Amino acid sequence: MTSVVSTALSRRQSLSLPYTHVDDFYIDGAWVGATGAGRNPVVDPAVGEQWGSVPEAGQEELDRAVAAARSALPGWSELRAADRAVYLLRIADEIEKRAELLSLTNTRENGSPISETRGAAANAAGIFRYFATLAPWLDNEDIRPFPAGGAESIVDKDAIGVCALIAPWNFPINLVVIKLAPALLAGCTTIIKPASPTPLSIRFIIEAVEAAGVPAGVVNLLTGSGRFGDAMVRHPGVDKVAFTGSTPVGRKIASACGELLRPVTLELGGKSSAIVLPDVDLDVLASRLIRSCMRNTGQTCYISTRIIAPASRYEEIVQVVADTIAAGVQGDPLDEGTVFGPVATAAQYRSVMEFIDSAHAEGARAVTGGKAAVASDLADGLDQGEFIQPTVFADVTPEMRIAAEEIFGPVLSILKYDDSEGVEAAIDIANNTEFGLGGLVFGADEERALEVARRVDSGSVGINFFGSNHSAPFGGRHDSGMGVEYGLEGLSAYLSYKSIHRAI
Ligand code: NAP
Ligand code: MG
Repeated sequence: MTSVVSTALSRRQSLSLPYTHVDDFYIDGAWVGATGAGRNPVVDPAVGEQWGSVPEAGQEELDRAVAAARSALPGWSELRAADRAVYLLRIADEIEKRAELLSLTNTRENGSPISETRGAAANAAGIFRYFATLAPWLDNEDIRPFPAGGAESIVDKDAIGVCALIAPWNFPINLVVIKLAPALLAGCTTIIKPASPTPLSIRFIIEAVEAAGVPAGVVNLLTGSGRFGDAMVRHPGVDKVAFTGSTPVGRKIASACGELLRPVTLELGGKSSAIVLPDVDLDVLASRLIRSCMRNTGQTCYISTRIIAPASRYEEIVQVVADTIAAGVQGDPLDEGTVFGPVATAAQYRSVMEFIDSAHAEGARAVTGGKAAVASDLADGLDQGEFIQPTVFADVTPEMRIAAEEIFGPVLSILKYDDSEGVEAAIDIANNTEFGLGGLVFGADEERALEVARRVDSGSVGINFFGSNHSAPFGGRHDSGMGVEYGLEGLSAYLSYKSIHRAI
């Protein structure tokens, strides 16, 4: 029997990735076979092909991983932070050696364009190296006199303990590493659960941890469903939970942790706004738009998917936004030139298409895109993929669903504000949301833009661009989360402070 294999599929078959169908977990410094029969598929959303699978961990594996992390905790946390930093630096080097396979695996898991995943290893290495620089802050003795005199306190920064790290699928490496690196520097031990669509690329990080000689039990990897994640969160041997994902799941985790009085950091959803000031430079807007507002095919938590444009320049801005998005190439995420890939899963496809349907029904005007991608526009073999046309809706009003809810797909909304009396109306629209994660201000007068940025009720705001700074706290307000990651503040989330008072 002969079969015709499409270009996209044959190209994938020739990649020979080391991790496809795997049958083990990383527990106590070794890859150990799964005991249960449950398995979860890994599907390439560009071609709709299942190309891998992982085992579903059960209570037995969870107990073993927690026990390993608990028994590794004293030895690891008693090291000086400077010694742990040496491991972090080695991990960084080992991650970089694995950049190419990590990138290809990540792109096959979630359809992120290769131009995006190519940076994942370097970014992860950069995070490990940044946190290594904070070792002196942990090691230096911190002595604080009583303000009234006569006594002093030694402030110890102890490791908080065994940490459960739970990540989503959109940036499967970064969103684990931003937890793992500070946890390890702080002296914590860890159990990682990646999201079900993206369980394989994280193995390259585990390989790097192993090659760096990190002691057994300090880092453990288990794969499993959301239900398994819930068991992790509630396990009596877990001291802290760090979660990135959706707001509804974050609420469940917060309530479990509330009941248990278990420290938790939550990085959740967003619906951020780009406020466009009347003096905007449209070339700047166009050059920063995709990275700041539709990064990773719109599947980035902090991007500003609501563009709030002044009435005095509305049509001009709509045109520039529509043209810029329409010019971004959509195609095979393995192609270097691809700007927009598929969305990550079939479920995500259905959810984004529902939002698009609601926008049409509520009277928004599609100025580019507005429907599922047309098979004839896509390369051979991509017709089974989860492709949605990069879409821009104009004439969006704050009551519409697409203006209020997180879409997490390639859809931008452009709202209008009356700028005849200043920028108040734009700030009101931007702050009229349950979320508070990211945001942007586009404007030529940077002082003015800074004033506006200060009034946006959100954890991070960019002026004419958005980026993550490893040394600056990143976190959400309101329904976008609790606590922060990155920076000294992010490291603090893995510490338990202890004051020892003595007379002097
Ligand atoms: P999700 O559905 O909330 O899942 C996130 C992780 O939690 C996955 O590993 C998931 O496992 C697990 N999980 C599901 N139910 C759980 C439960 N009851 N207890 C414990 N763990 C559970 O999020 P997603 O769909 O993967 O990712 C998209 C969301 O992440 C978006 O809302 C996005 O805004 C948010 N996000 C936020 C940030 C940020 O920094 N604020 C960054 C990126 C993404 P399964 O995959 O097996 O279900
Ligand atoms: Mg989900």
